Amino acid sequence: MTSCNIELVTGSHNNLQFSELLPLLQGYRQPSMAIVYQDGEPGKLCTRCGEWRPVARYPRRSISLDGYDSICRECRNVASQAWRAKNKERVQELNREYYEANRDERLEYHRTYRNANKEYFAEQMRKFRQNNPEYHARVMREWSQRHPDKVRERDRARRARKLGNGGTFTHQEWEAIKQRYNYICLRCGRREPDIKLTVDHIMPLIKGGRHSAENIQPLCKSCNSAKHDDAIDYRPDHV
Ligand SMILES: [Zn+2]
Ligand SMILES: [Zn+2]
Repeated sequence: MTSCNIELVTGSHNNLQFSELLPLLQGYRQPSMAIVYQDGEPGKLCTRCGEWRPVARYPRRSISLDGYDSICRECRNVASQAWRAKNKERVQELNREYYEANRDERLEYHRTYRNANKEYFAEQMRKFRQNNPEYHARVMREWSQRHPDKVRERDRARRARKLGNGGTFTHQEWEAIKQRYNYICLRCGRREPDIKLTVDHIMPLIKGGRHSAENIQPLCKSCNSAKHDDAIDYRPDHV
C-alpha cells in the first residue's frame, strides 16, 4: 500500500517571487518543483521517463526550484551518452582543453604515483621489454643516436666498473670541467665548437685510474688518441 501526496514548492528564490521566476525559467528548463512523497520518502517524477524516483537519484541543480534536476540520473546519463556520441569532436576538444589546463597537476600526480609504485613499474617495464624485444631495441637505438655523449659516458662507466677501478662521474661534473677550462683542449689549445671535447682519463682506466672528476681532463679526439695509454696531466692548475 503506497501513500502518495504532492507538495508544491513555492516561495522566494533569489528574492524573486515564484510567480516572477516561473516565466524566466520557462523555455530554459522545465521548472521541476513537485516533490512527491512515497511512504514518507521524498521523490520526484522524472519528466523524461515519467517514473517516480527518490530525490537522491536526481542530479543537484541550483537553478531548479527544488534543487534537483527535472530528469533522473538514468535518463540524464542516457542523454549525455547520446550527446557525446553525436559530438565526438567536441568531446575530444573538451578533453584536450582539460588535459592542457591541468598539465602540472597531472604530471605531479603521475610522478607521485610512479614513485609510490616503483617496484611495480620496474616490473611492468621489464615484462614489456621481454615481450617486445624488437620495439625495445629500436627505441634504444634511436635514443643512442640522439644522445651519443650519454652513450659514451655510460660505456666508460661500465668499463671502469668492469675493471673494478671505482669512482663515479656525472654528466654535470663533465660539463663543469669543460667550463672550467673554457672549452679548450688542454693539449692542442683548440676550442669548441671547432673541435669536440672528449673525456680523457689522466691515469688510464687500463692502468687502474679512477673514473671520477679528479682523474679527468678535456681533450679533443685526436689529442685523446695521440696520448695513447700514457699518464699525462695537461691541467695547468694541477702540478
Ligand atoms: Zn527518468
Ligand atoms: Zn687537442
